[in-house]
Amino acid sequence: MRIARSPKALMFGAISALALTLLPPSPAFAGKFQTCVQSFWPAAKRAKVSRATFDRATKGLTPDPEVIESAKYQPEYKKPIGEYVDRAVSVKRLKVGKEKLVEYKVLLDKLEAKYGVDRHIVVAIWGVESNYGDNLGDKNVIRSLMTLACSGTKAKYARGQIVSALRVLQRGDTTFDAMNGSWAGAMGHTQFIPTTYTAYAVDQDGDGKRDIWGTIPDALGSTAAYLKVSKWKRGQTWGYEVKLPKRLNPKRYSSRTYKTLAQWRKLGITRINGRPFPRPADKAQLFAPEGKNGPAFLVLNNFRSILRYNVAKSYALAVGHLADRLAGYDPFVQAWPTGENRLSLEQRMELQTLLIATGHLEGAVDGIIGSGTLGGVRSYQRAKSLPVDGYPTLTILNRLRKEAPPPPVQQPAVAAEQVASPQAAPPLPAVPAAATAVQPPPVQQPVALPVRRPASAVEKTVPAQN
Ligand code: CA
Repeated sequence: MRIARSPKALMFGAISALALTLLPPSPAFAGKFQTCVQSFWPAAKRAKVSRATFDRATKGLTPDPEVIESAKYQPEYKKPIGEYVDRAVSVKRLKVGKEKLVEYKVLLDKLEAKYGVDRHIVVAIWGVESNYGDNLGDKNVIRSLMTLACSGTKAKYARGQIVSALRVLQRGDTTFDAMNGSWAGAMGHTQFIPTTYTAYAVDQDGDGKRDIWGTIPDALGSTAAYLKVSKWKRGQTWGYEVKLPKRLNPKRYSSRTYKTLAQWRKLGITRINGRPFPRPADKAQLFAPEGKNGPAFLVLNNFRSILRYNVAKSYALAVGHLADRLAGYDPFVQAWPTGENRLSLEQRMELQTLLIATGHLEGAVDGIIGSGTLGGVRSYQRAKSLPVDGYPTLTILNRLRKEAPPPPVQQPAVAAEQVASPQAAPPLPAVPAAATAVQPPPVQQPVALPVRRPASAVEKTVPAQN
């Protein structure tokens, strides 16, 4: 489970991380962080967290600079989708997944019977989220969330998670020391964020604890339970790889276009293997992430269920495809593009500069295509009555070059030197209403951190994840 990024978050991240990295933890700063941490006590108390639990989780807590560094990078958005999917569905992951299907057959039988969720999708999520438990994340969840909440990066998201995380400790589902997770506080074998954990994790083995860190039945049971409430339909696929007719431009259909499979068929779209659609009345969206240059899909209800786990469509495609491969189906027939249609770093930065100059984007030029830039491209496409898919192509860049006013003399090439403009809040993970019943405490001011020098927009090498 991951959260989306925004240019503003990147900015705060760069500044805060640098300050945290470069500065020795002065008593004054430690004091400010602790003041912020302690400000969560009233909300925790209202949620019936005891003072002892709160103290155990927060006493002497220091911010974790690595968390803010990590918040700047998310592979689903940064990598070309073909590369991301290929990596997520690697030969090794497929092999280990098949072994897990055998090893946990009895458990998976039970989960299919109880929740009506296909075993392959459960195992695929396990594989993509933590590499079947190899990578649970080694960051203390309370520390990560407090770092995010108190230093500005993803603060709104983190504030909404802290009380739920403290309640995990209060219930005794796990201990403070064992409660590790990703930089964003995603926890256990299948990486639940605390609010989702609170609402949907299950005690599958019946020992009284919902231990998604150390008990495989609890972890996989929780995933199946969550997919069930996310309206997974038993025995149905997430989608089909399709062949587009030559005349059909996939960019004419936005991600909000729903048609039945029969209606798509009438437009000339067929399954790649030529077979008919088994349930032609099912509603589907066209998903052609690389336009006409790569595999195209008609995605169904179950694809949207996977998106409840993680809002990135590349993630849902990777999970769905891994599940299919685990079930013995073939790789995609169509190849992903190999680069000729992809923008270079310089071109991505130019695109962002031009989107800012034309009023379609606010924030920093960093060359990273995140949710902010995709939104900017969509805004431009809407304004020009183009198909709205948010896909940053060379065609869009060339149009902008012709239309945009000449850029200002000083190139805004360094993220931290830009003045942050107010941005829409970063999109939050799909969290059901029930999971957010506990109100986060009032908005805290980010702890003010001195900056020794501007952070550069140089891309970091980040360890491979998933
Ligand atoms: Ca248990």
